[in-house]
Amino acid sequence: MTGRTLCGVLGHPVAHSRSPAMQNAAFDAVGLDWLYVPLPVAPDRFREVVRALPASGYRGANVTIPHKLAALEVADSASEAATGIGAANTLTFADGHLEAENTDAAGLQRALERPMTGLRTLVLGAGGAGRAAAWALREGGAAEVAIWNRTPERAAALARDLGLDHAERPDRAAVDLLVNATSVGLDPRLGADDALRGLGLADADPPAVVVDLVYRSDGAETPVAGWARGGGAHVVDGIEVLVRQGALSFELWTGRPAPLEAMRAAARSARA
Ligand code: NAP
Repeated sequence: MTGRTLCGVLGHPVAHSRSPAMQNAAFDAVGLDWLYVPLPVAPDRFREVVRALPASGYRGANVTIPHKLAALEVADSASEAATGIGAANTLTFADGHLEAENTDAAGLQRALERPMTGLRTLVLGAGGAGRAAAWALREGGAAEVAIWNRTPERAAALARDLGLDHAERPDRAAVDLLVNATSVGLDPRLGADDALRGLGLADADPPAVVVDLVYRSDGAETPVAGWARGGGAHVVDGIEVLVRQGALSFELWTGRPAPLEAMRAAARSARA
């Protein structure tokens, strides 16, 4: 134990995470002598490790794959967002109490920097990121939130959970905002044409606004972001959403406004 206040990111694996670079840059920028570390933890040890963190000097932790469901279950209380989404990406420890939050949803809302009221929206993907995105759009007042997923049963289940539409064959041209919440684009070995075809985007024009939650470890542009930019859309990339969710976690732990520029610069220059 260092005597410093600690925060960390729990994942399995977690070595690729840009959060340590981003959060340590934020602590530096506001003059806090805190330290943020990667915490690789296997699923069968998650509960035990989380419970030991407060006594080891930890103020909070981010949670990534595969622990987001377990993070909600281990917490003493949870926010409306974490409960509604069914997963948590942020834990805050205070006075022996463990609070779960999901900043992925509000991070997406902040990254958009525009009202989503009345928009027709489509979410591609029904995993953890898709759940948070669909919840964020619904809560943000979107007029329509349709969900498409490669495995249709998962989209149907998510739509049912959130009271939304499940689109087996959604019209990509009839939306104002599209969110890619699949992991398509993560693997550089999959070419852009194949990636776009797999998502039903190859022959479509992008809508006015496209969010691609995927970001590549080498910093290269993702197929969906490239398609959207080439078609003149306003593009919000995965790093910007990462920064915004991290900023909200930072504010929960420190009680201070997040230094967004420092976080953005660190997240963009960090390489796995
Ligand atoms: P997940 O729970 O494993 O879900 C993966 C999703 O991708 C599922 O909907 C899956 O469909 C779909 N998928 C995978 N391969 C596909 C393919 N070849 N064609 C079509 N769909 C495919 O993962 P997650 O946690 O939701 O994360 C999804 C992505 O979002 C990841 O790349 C992650 O890095 C990113 N993410 C970014 C942020 C951020 O802050 N920028 C935050 C969270 C997540 P099936 O159900 O059919 O398998």
